[in-house]
Amino acid sequence: MTKNYFATGIISKSSNFGEADSIFHLITKEYGLVKAVAKSVRKPKSKLKGHLQTLNHVNAYLRKGKNLDLIIQVESVTTFKSIKKNLNFIAQACYMTELTESVISEDQSSPELFNLLVSSLKFLETSKNRILLIHCFEFQLLALSGFKLMFLECVNCQKEISKNSHVFSPVQGGVLCPNCKKSENTKLINLSFTTLKILRNMSRENFSLLLEISPPKNIINELSRIFNESIKELLGIKLNSQNFYQTIMKH
Ligand SMILES: [Zn+2]
Repeated sequence: MTKNYFATGIISKSSNFGEADSIFHLITKEYGLVKAVAKSVRKPKSKLKGHLQTLNHVNAYLRKGKNLDLIIQVESVTTFKSIKKNLNFIAQACYMTELTESVISEDQSSPELFNLLVSSLKFLETSKNRILLIHCFEFQLLALSGFKLMFLECVNCQKEISKNSHVFSPVQGGVLCPNCKKSENTKLINLSFTTLKILRNMSRENFSLLLEISPPKNIINELSRIFNESIKELLGIKLNSQNFYQTIMKH
């Protein structure tokens, strides 16, 4: 990386630093997670201030530093205004950015993760039906992190799954056939056939179809449990924003 560089990214987090500076976390297309300081950004006359807001998509010029990089110039591409007006959308957007930040590496180009986050935020802002957005996002993020959940055949022996024998193993990252279920001694989750059908459509990457449907509450609860447990087991994380977004979604 040269001393000065350009990056396009989503601002995922900020914290105060010193008297008037702030540190920003950017999920960038070119360099993965970038942590950079903006000088005097908390002073009223700062030109950077308006652009450096959490969830903004920005184009930034930065200078490589020893510990933290320095934001020299920044311009917003999208501010996701409609998301910021609604507490429910903010909770979902924060969950998606926090989850992305937890899997993205520093100094490593991650265009797929960046594009997934941007397209999901755009969908959250513009679409009328967002019921399955978070779960489609989680499925794709897990796949990009090397954990593609298996719903078409048994994750253990690759046999086709027959009707009425659906059980999901978060540790194995997929559904198990009755035979493999017998010898599995980790936590298992029973699935209804409707939930399995939705998950199979995720495996086939039919996301545009899934983003149009509105499944009932009991199916949403099953899906939430599957993804919460998978993220906990496979990525080894439990996020603060997950509790926030789940509380909001219940109301
Ligand atoms: Zn099996």
